[in-house]
Parts: sequence; structure tokens; C-alpha cells
Amino acid sequence: MYRLRLWAVKRSYQCERLYTALEAALVKLHPLFEKIGYNRLERPVAVVERAAKTLLFDCKMCGQCVLSSTGMSCPMNCPKQLRNGPCGGVRPGGYCEVKPEMRCVWVLAWDGASRMKEGHRIGNVLPPVDRQLEGSSAWLRASREKALSLQVSVDAERTSLARAFPTARRAEPAAAPLAQEPGNTAQGGARK
Ligand code: SF4
Repeated sequence: MYRLRLWAVKRSYQCERLYTALEAALVKLHPLFEKIGYNRLERPVAVVERAAKTLLFDCKMCGQCVLSSTGMSCPMNCPKQLRNGPCGGVRPGGYCEVKPEMRCVWVLAWDGASRMKEGHRIGNVLPPVDRQLEGSSAWLRASREKALSLQVSVDAERTSLARAFPTARRAEPAAAPLAQEPGNTAQGGARK
């Protein structure tokens, strides 16, 4: 597994693209997941996630995956489980202070991030691990949060357009095309 972990960091760019595609697919499935119920999906998805990520990243299923911010190097493999690293004890050649036979997880993380499109994210300070989330599916949580945030921003955009357009239409009707408005109640009236 250690070799696969190194392999994944070397191919961090490809892994990042795969992760982006997976997240997009899960976000699209959000309406279906809501119908089925996220609670029901939690267990089967977590099983698949554990299998795939343990194989590729030596994942420890912390439940709040940060691989895309750590060059595809799982920080839970750091013996000190640092969420922001490396520590001050990295050995010459980039080896771990605690496990000298292992490359420092954070040295690998910075290396992997240098090949990623969103590699700058490694500069963001990560919050401490929430142990209550251990074993849960980070894929489901992240995609659900993204789907909900997209929904909120679309709703906010619609509302602000709906608020702004009636005045604009009165002042200059041709310059203010009809906006999609909540409940579609104003569209018919504005066309008259
Ligand atoms: S050297 Fe790297 S992997 Fe080892 S304890 Fe320090 S930060 Fe963690």
C-alpha cells in the first residue's frame, strides 16, 4: 500500500481530475440521493469509499477528506496526525522523524500539490480533525454540501434578479429582459 500511496502522489494531477469528476457526478445525483435518503446511502457508500481510498491513499477514513488540499497525500498517515505540516523534525532526504523508513507525509503533500491545478490550497490552514466523523463517507458529505451551496447561490441570484428587474423594466423595458422569478407570477404580467 505504501508504494501505491507514493504512486498516487506522483500522479496527483490525474487523481485531482478523477476526484473533480467524481464530485461533479455525485452533485448531479443529489436530487436522487435526497429521495433515497442520505442516511440510507451512508453505509454502502462508505464501504466503497473505504476500499478505493485505502488501496490508493492508505486512507484512514477520518470522514473529512482533505486529499485535494494535501497533494493527494493522506495526512492521517503522519504519526503525529498533523493537519498542517510538516513538523520540524523531517529527516534529510524528506524522511519522517518518527518512522525513518517512511517519506514524510507532508513532504509528499507539498510535492503532490506542486503538480495539481488547485495545488495552492495546500497553503490554507486546515481545521483539526473532528473525531466524531471517523468512518463516515467524506464523498457524500462533501458532494451534499456542494449541491446545497449551489442551490442556495442559484436561489439568491434568482431573488436578486427578481427584485431588480421590475424597476429596470419600467425605466427601459427593452434593456431589461425578463428574469426568471420565484413562482413565475410576475412573468405574465410584465409581458403585457
Ligand atoms: S516528519 Fe512528517 S510524517 Fe513524520 S511526524 Fe513530522 S510531519 Fe508527520
